[in-house]
Amino acid sequence: MKTIGIIGAMKDEITPLLQHYKNYTTIKLGKLEFYKITLEKEEKILYITQSKIGKVSAAIAATTLISKYNCQQILFTGVAGANHKDLDIGDLVIGNKLVHHDVDITAFGHPKGHIPEIGIEIDTSEELNKIAESIIKEKNHNYKVGTIATGDQFVHSKEIKEEITNNFNAIAIEMEGVAVAQTCNQLEVPCFILRAISDNANGDAPENFEEFVKQSAIKSSEIIVEMIQLI
Ligand code: SAH
Repeated sequence: MKTIGIIGAMKDEITPLLQHYKNYTTIKLGKLEFYKITLEKEEKILYITQSKIGKVSAAIAATTLISKYNCQQILFTGVAGANHKDLDIGDLVIGNKLVHHDVDITAFGHPKGHIPEIGIEIDTSEELNKIAESIIKEKNHNYKVGTIATGDQFVHSKEIKEEITNNFNAIAIEMEGVAVAQTCNQLEVPCFILRAISDNANGDAPENFEEFVKQSAIKSSEIIVEMIQLI
């Protein structure tokens, strides 16, 4: 049996998956919950969890899925703010590289986002990214593959977006991806990060987010469901 871990930060991001699979058992670990799904025919076990928001929460979820539930691949599904002129609400972003936009040890001469012995950019699985891309293409969704910037803040300003563009050339902004990617990278487990755009990380972002989070989260989860059949 192949074991796959799936993380969403918010309820809206994992609910569509639980509704799709229907039959799951809930495993409690402290304050965390893991939803176990056994796909007999496909010979796969899925563990779905809602990490809660932010980098620490996401790292805890990824670490637990890998080291306690022996997940061999980690997929993240959720929403993000867009940081590219060709990306709009509802579009999809595959993060082939993840960066910490809020890590700053420039005082020691390191570039913004650099963590000694880790670097700036953390790669995700090329193989999983290719599979997702072929599914997204087939569905004719507008999408991009590129760098996603993660930090512990909801970005809703032109100035911060510009800074993230100048420092990292990132096309989307969110609050968990790099933590999952870094955990997977250090524990040597393939990682996949998918985001559907919920807002443009600008002044309208809080209102746009509220309006579009649900439908964008559904769009991202639909790709994950198809991926599960292929991986
Ligand atoms: N409205 C929520 C908080 C949402 S925080 C509440 O009050 O509970 C935003 C979440 O969506 C994070 O999980 C983050 O990963 C993602 N996200 C979407 N747009 C974002 C943006 N513009 N900046 C940062 N994260 C964003």
